[in-house]
Order: sequence, then structure tokens, then C-alpha cells
Amino acid sequence: MTLIQSRSPQNPDDIVEERVPVTPEHVQVLAGRVRAAQLTWRRQDPSSRAAALRGAADRLRTRADEATALIVREVGKPAMEARAEVSRAAAILDYYAQSCFAPTGELLAPTLPANQPGLLFTERRPRGVAGLVTPWNFPLAIPVWKAAPALAAGNGVLLKPSPSALACGNLVQQLFDGLLPANLLHVVPGGADTGQAVIQAADVASFTGSESVGRKVVAAATQGGLPVQAEMGGQNAAVVLPDADPATTAIMLAGAAMGYAGQKCTATRRIIVVGDAAVFTEALVAAVAALRVGDPTNVDVVVGPVITEAARHRVLDAVSAARAAGGRVLTNDIATRDGFYVAPTLLDSVDPGHSVACEETFGPVATIFAVPNVRAAAFLANSVRFGLVTSVHGRDIGRLFELTKAIDTGLIRVNAPTTGVDFHAPFGGEKASSHGPREQGTAALDFYTSLHTVTFATPPLTSAEEAS
Ligand code: NAD
Repeated sequence: MTLIQSRSPQNPDDIVEERVPVTPEHVQVLAGRVRAAQLTWRRQDPSSRAAALRGAADRLRTRADEATALIVREVGKPAMEARAEVSRAAAILDYYAQSCFAPTGELLAPTLPANQPGLLFTERRPRGVAGLVTPWNFPLAIPVWKAAPALAAGNGVLLKPSPSALACGNLVQQLFDGLLPANLLHVVPGGADTGQAVIQAADVASFTGSESVGRKVVAAATQGGLPVQAEMGGQNAAVVLPDADPATTAIMLAGAAMGYAGQKCTATRRIIVVGDAAVFTEALVAAVAALRVGDPTNVDVVVGPVITEAARHRVLDAVSAARAAGGRVLTNDIATRDGFYVAPTLLDSVDPGHSVACEETFGPVATIFAVPNVRAAAFLANSVRFGLVTSVHGRDIGRLFELTKAIDTGLIRVNAPTTGVDFHAPFGGEKASSHGPREQGTAALDFYTSLHTVTFATPPLTSAEEAS
């Protein structure tokens, strides 16, 4: 059996974790155990479900330094961001712990007028086994933002983490060990076969990752008749209006485009400047040059390595292709280092239809465009197949409003970077970025449950009761 390994992207000789992939056959066995454990869990009172999730949050806070160091080492996330991810994961667990006490009927109609004496009410019930397939780039927060609502709602979980985040996957298992009934949650390391088996064994499926894999997951889940959600790529735009302050906006966008080496689905990939772009471009080039690139263990570093050598080549090839087609690189290269580093790269003079502008490179590359007016900005922002998030920057409330109305992405952020997620709000995209219902917030609780309508009539009076 071939082992799967995760390696530290800043120090590729460092093998962080090695595992034997869980075979599809064994996934089926584990799914059976999860399903059996779920029958007990779904009947547990809300206080004990909440206590288990809160216990996992407490455990994570106790192990925050270790978890932060593991994320930095395994996926090369800069230390400051890794620490924030750990805090966020703990907060997500707290949030869903509390949701164990939330109403379980349809919120706008928990009880309805009944046509006979008695009650007519709705009730949300867990679906069974949640099959979760996750990427490497938020190796703790994404598994937790899927598993926590699934568990809170009374489901069991099969979680397949990315092969590039095996140790973080183990950590997720450890967070819950001993707090949940035995076998309620299994983390199953493996590749595509294991992922497919998880989808086939589940009653509800949630995926985050690339668009190409997401389509396969959606196809498998749909064929099996499962409710499925898939959060996939983005090619996100930031629109800069003429009255945006160049210096502060440039700093915000430099971080949103290049932070964590651009490896966020919400990273800014296209910067659309309304009017003359010269002053803003200069400010942005300066802001990108000021970002510290290097070893992600250093708390001042904003841009670490990309995840693999293949990812590095993908990014470099995308930049070369853009240059060959007339694109101009506005930023400087970086000194060669060990590890999978790529210089943060700003481009202009690129055709908006070029693949570097339309397809996800998932690295520290962004392209600047100038457009004459707000309408042209909205048109260009909406012109790609993806539809995850757009940010707009400026002061004129009328123009900001006009733009937010015209933008077609699932998330729209005014004077805030495209990056950044509120775990208590619905999260998801449009077009090729997403499939199925939103995740996070209360939307996740809806997704991991099915809605039942119960007519509960009182029995007719017996003749003795009628007589009395
Ligand atoms: P990926 O698609 O390569 O892998 C995601 C997961 O799917 C991994 O666990 C992988 O092992 C598994 N997988 C691979 N082939 C499979 C198959 N045939 N069937 C079932 N599972 C399979 O993605 P990645 O490289 O880990 O992550 C980067 C991608 O994730 C980027 O495209 C990024 O935009 C996207 N992403 C999206 C969001 C979002 O919320 N929209 C968030 C984070 C990352």
C-alpha cells in the first residue's frame, strides 16, 4: 500500500505526517459504525451535545500554540494567520455548541394552525452520516466549520482531509476524542478514492476544494440522491472607485491578494480601478513590495511558500503565459530560497479574457485593470465564470450602492477585503464557485437536517368521556 505524506512547503525535506490511505472498503465499514453511533447521539439531550462541542473548543484553546505551529509547519500558513485560524476554529465550536439549544422547527413557522384539535408543527432532524471532504488551505477551520454544525444537529461525521494536511486532520480527530460517543466521528485520510467512498457512504455531503474535483463530488452525490454542497474556486475582483484613499486601499488589497501566498478561495485576483489607474497602481506596487516574504514561522511574514512544487510551477507558468501575451510584471522577483516560494506578482496590460485573469492560479498573482466607469467595472467584475466574492472600495455612497447591486458574487464586501469570513453568516458563491445551499451560520444547521411536518391530533373523545 502506497503511503500518503504531507511535507512542509517551506522545508520540503520535512515529512510532517505519513499515513496509509483508508481503503474505500474500510470507509464503508467505518460508515456503518458512524451510523450506529449516530442513532444514540441524535437522541442525546442538547446539553450533552453542547458540552461535547464546548469541550472540543476548550481543548483546542489549551493546545493553541501546538495547533498554530502544526498549521504553519504543514501548510506554510504565516504564523499570525495560523493563530487566527485556531482562534476562529475554537469560536466556531462555541457558536455551534450554543446552537444545540436553537429551535428545531422551521423558524418562521415552528407551529401552525391545525385543522383538527391538536398540533401542526415542523421539526428538523439530523440526516445521518455527514460525508465531509476538505482542502488543505484552512486545514483546521474548514473541517471544523463543517463538522461542528453537523454534530450539533445530531449527525455523525466521516471527514476526509487533504493529503497535504494529514496532521491537521489527526488534530481534528483528537479534538473530539473521548468527548463524543465512540465511532461518531472518523477522520479518514486518503486521496480521491477515499473521498469518493466517503461521498458514497454518506447521507449528506459537503465539499470544499477545486472546481474540477467539486464537480466530481457533486456528480457522485447527486447520483446517490444525497443533499450536497460544494464550495469551489474563485477569481475575485476588487473594484477601486476614484474617491478611495489610494494608500490605505492599496495596503488592504495587497494583503488580500498576496497574503498566505494568495492561497485563499477569497483572495483578490483582479483589481479593477475606475478612472486613471496610475496613482493607485503606484500605491499598490509599493504596498506589495512592503509585504514581508519568507519563513512563515516568523510572525512578521505575510507571504510564505505555496503548497507544493507543482503549485509553484503552475503559478510561474501562468505568469509566463501572461507575459508572452503582452502582460507586464510590475513587481520585483525575490531571492531564491529553499521551499516552494513564488514572488508576489502584480500584472497589468493583460487582456481580461486571458486565462491568468479568468482562471484560478491559486498563488500570489493579481492583475490590475483600468475601466472608465462604474458600469464597466461591474461588467468586468462579473465577466468570469466564478462568483465567490467581490470587494468595492470608495466613499460615494450612491456609487457604492450601485456597484453592490450590480455585482453577481455570493459575497459582496464594501471597504473590506475579499478575504475574511464571518462564521455566523451564510457563506458561499454563485456560478462555478459553488453548488447547493450555503454553509456556516444557521444555514449549515438547515443543510445538515431535513424538515419534517408533523400533524399531532388529539384522539377523539371516548363515549365515556363524552358522557362525563
Ligand atoms: P482539491 O480539489 O485538490 O482537493 C480537495 C479535497 O478533495 C481533498 O481532500 C482531496 O483529496 C479530495 N479529492 C480529490 N479528488 C477527489 C475525488 N475525485 N473525489 C472526492 N474527493 C477528492 O483542492 P485543494 O488543492 O485541497 O484546495 C484548493 C482549492 O480549494 C482551490 O481551488 C480553492 O479555491 C478551493 N477552496 C475553496 C473554498 C471555498 O469556500 N469556496 C475554501 C477553501 C479552498
